[in-house]
Amino acid sequence: MRRFFRTVFLIDLIEGLRVTLRAQHPKNITTEQYPRERPRIAERYRGAPRLNNHPETGETLCIACNLCAVACPEVLIVVGSERNEKTKRKELTTFTYDTSRCMFCGLCEDACPVECLELTQDFELASYTREGQIWDRQMLEEGPKPAEYKF
Ligand code: SF4
Ligand code: SF4
Repeated sequence: MRRFFRTVFLIDLIEGLRVTLRAQHPKNITTEQYPRERPRIAERYRGAPRLNNHPETGETLCIACNLCAVACPEVLIVVGSERNEKTKRKELTTFTYDTSRCMFCGLCEDACPVECLELTQDFELASYTREGQIWDRQMLEEGPKPAEYKF
């Protein structure tokens, strides 16, 4: 009999709706509201690669030694360089990094002897094309510029 009344008066449905509506209160929302809220990134998170420049001169710290490219198990880094005839030093010309194949293991970062290559805490790496995943020297030096959303 109890079951009958519950069915006739839609008690189960109403209780279900009550639970659903209670969960709509902002204090009960546990889903991260990205991009409205920026996620908290773990201290040791390894994300977007960056080529660091000297903070005062703005010159690249990279000495084009190619160690990062050799250390990479995915062989996705290509370092271009040329010899400066005056100084007899190799100078960086191009640098490409295919983020689509990177597993963010950090071996390249560890191999860099001058702390030029860094895996930062930037995490917004999406692009609409495969080509967009291949970052050139300029992108690596400037860092990603994710879209800013206004609400
Ligand atoms: S993080 Fe790992 S996979 Fe990515 S470029 Fe560096 S060494 Fe290669
Ligand atoms: S290991 Fe460092 S210094 Fe050497 S080529 Fe790579 S980024 Fe440049």
